[in-house]
Amino acid sequence: MGTKGRQIVGMDVDELIKLLNKALADEWLAYYQYWIGAKIVKGPMKDAVASELVLHATEELAHADLLAARIVQLGGTPIIEPKEWFKLTNCGYDAPTDPFVKQILAQNIKGEQCAIDVYQKLQLLVRDKDPVTYNMVLTILADEVEHEEDLQSLDEDLDSMMMRK
Ligand code: FE
Ligand code: FE
Ligand code: MG
Repeated sequence: MGTKGRQIVGMDVDELIKLLNKALADEWLAYYQYWIGAKIVKGPMKDAVASELVLHATEELAHADLLAARIVQLGGTPIIEPKEWFKLTNCGYDAPTDPFVKQILAQNIKGEQCAIDVYQKLQLLVRDKDPVTYNMVLTILADEVEHEEDLQSLDEDLDSMMMRK
């Protein structure tokens, strides 16, 4: 932990660490949901969808990395027990029981919309209080906004393709 770095945070640091750990739980579950979705997705354009899902998986893991590093900087402990993911998650995990592309896209779009809400709230909370966390949260938020649009545009492509038949 950086003592001065922790001192300049103008809010309850333990509360902030708790919120960052909740986001960390979301990122691991999002990572796995994308990763497994890419393996099992079926239907039209499945290769295009699978490559986007794989890319998003790596980006969610990068978010987990940023969050864990920030938690350590603040003197906290990132979740060390995967069982905690389900206790702490904001957005949960949607098992892709139906591997059809449209269904997998819909589940992941829902997840991204939840993530956007989480980071939007977090940025409002830390703005003016913790510039370092604020900067990180904006970076992640921008990725989640991009993810939502990527998936929605794939879903639109899929609709226009299926309508042509
Ligand atoms: Fe993420
Ligand atoms: Fe995302
Ligand atoms: Mg993308």
